[in-house]
Amino acid sequence: MILKNTAHSVDAVVIGAGVIGLAVARSLAKTGRDVLIVERNASIGQETSSRNSQVIHAGLYYPQHSFKAKFCVEGRRMLYQYCRERSVDVHQCGKLIVATSEASFRDKLVPLYHQALRNGVTNVQLLTDTAHIADLEPHLSHVIGALWSPSTGIVDSHHFLYSLLADAEAHGATLALQSAVEDARITNSVELQVGGTWIACRNVVNAAGLWADRVASMLHQNHFWRPPKQYYCKGNYFRLQGQTSPFSRLVYPLPDERGGLGVHATLGKCTHFDASCTYIMQ
Ligand SMILES: Cc1cc2nc3c(=O)[nH]c(=O)nc-3n(C[C@H](O)[C@H](O)[C@H](O)COP(=O)(O)OP(=O)(O)OC[C@H]3O[C@@H](n4cnc5c(N)ncnc54)[C@H](O)[C@@H]3O)c2cc1C
Repeated sequence: MILKNTAHSVDAVVIGAGVIGLAVARSLAKTGRDVLIVERNASIGQETSSRNSQVIHAGLYYPQHSFKAKFCVEGRRMLYQYCRERSVDVHQCGKLIVATSEASFRDKLVPLYHQALRNGVTNVQLLTDTAHIADLEPHLSHVIGALWSPSTGIVDSHHFLYSLLADAEAHGATLALQSAVEDARITNSVELQVGGTWIACRNVVNAAGLWADRVASMLHQNHFWRPPKQYYCKGNYFRLQGQTSPFSRLVYPLPDERGGLGVHATLGKCTHFDASCTYIMQ
């Protein structure tokens, strides 16, 4: 759907058709609300939601009692269940986080193991038998010990996005593509300008991803509130070609202290990628 220049009024507008916007739209539509999803691109999931490692994280890293720890552990269980119910392609391959020195094993990997346990990820195992690690992944070398996380997996993110959209639409949500939110004003309702048309809405969900701060600034332009400063970081993927994957599990180093999970190997699991290949994420 492309919005035409006529007056619109809806109960809820979700800005952005990435994984967050589609999941929120699905939930709102299931409660019986009139939901309009506005997406500036020509199809859904064209930004971060289709340019990531597709990993279903177990919830190992986050501080205990933080929202990230709570929602990652709960969300992981819900995501596997959803994928089973909706036949979304998923592969619970597990993940090894490896330490390559005695010091990093003692000072980082062991604390990470305890962090995972505190977060309720009770099936993690600390592996110290290097022969056993070599049995699991023969191409790993210089590994002193590893943390084994069997609940980590890979989801076909494109399949997942389309499944969320199908659910939302089945409950009456409407998707408007090529429909960028250009401006906003708050009168007795919130009004969004989309493709030259003003839409009045009772509820707005800002799920604009990397542009969420700009959308928030539009919504709050007459107020003193300022969106939090964004700190961007970029990832690069390198694809192994002409050979089968050396690994059958995800392999990660210890997390990078500057932020991020470090250079890691991930397994393609996606209709758009070759399922048998390995990506190195930097
Ligand atoms: C390199 C990398 C690897 C990652 N790996 C993983 C991983 O393995 N596992 C994991 O769980 N997470 C991973 N993530 C994080 C995950 O991808 C993101 O958290 C998630 O995709 C964010 O989804 P989103 O819907 O918020 O944003 P997006 O997917 O960016 O969606 C936002 C949408 O809003 C639209 N939009 C923006 N402005 C407007 C506007 N004005 N009007 C209308 N539409 C607008 C955009 O076009 C876009 O479609 C990774 C992230 C990166 C960068």
